[in-house]
Amino acid sequence: MEVEQNYWRKCSTCKKEIGFNTIYQVCNVSTCKKWVYCSVDCWNLHNPVMNHKSSWAEEMRSPRKENAQAIVEAGPRRILIQDKSQTSQSSLEGQANEGEILIVASKLKQYIKDKYDMNTSANVMEILSHKVRRLTERAVEKARSEGRKTVMDRDYE
Ligand SMILES: [Zn+2]
Ligand SMILES: [Zn+2]
Repeated sequence: MEVEQNYWRKCSTCKKEIGFNTIYQVCNVSTCKKWVYCSVDCWNLHNPVMNHKSSWAEEMRSPRKENAQAIVEAGPRRILIQDKSQTSQSSLEGQANEGEILIVASKLKQYIKDKYDMNTSANVMEILSHKVRRLTERAVEKARSEGRKTVMDRDYE
C-alpha cells in the first residue's frame, strides 16, 4: 500500500516539511536550484558552504497537491505551476524568470550619471531585475485574486 505524502518536499537544511501551496526559498544560483529551503535562514546556511560571491534567496510557492505529480515529471528546474489552467504558459514563464535582465541598463546608467554623477555596476541590473520579478509576482497574485487578467499599477502598491 502506498503511503500518502502530505507535504511537498523537505527543507534541504533543517529537513522540515514544506507543504503544498506554501512559500519556500531557492538559491538563485542555477546549480543550487535542486535544493529547497523552508526559510531564508535555512538558505543562508548553505551560502558559506557553497562559497557564493553573490547570491540571493528566491521566494517560490510550492505546487498544489493535485499538481505536484506534474512537477516531478517536469523535473526540478521547472519553477512554479500554480494552476492547471496555466500549465501551458508556465514553462514560458519559467524561462523568462531565470536571471533575465528586465532593466534598461543604458537608461538607468544615464539617469544615475546625470542625476548623481556616479557610475553603475552591472550587478545592479541583476538585483533590480530580481526585485522587479518579486514585486511582479505579488502584483500578479493580487490581480488574479481579484479575477483580473491585467496587472495594474495599484497591484504594485
Ligand atoms: Zn529549513
Ligand atoms: Zn546556492
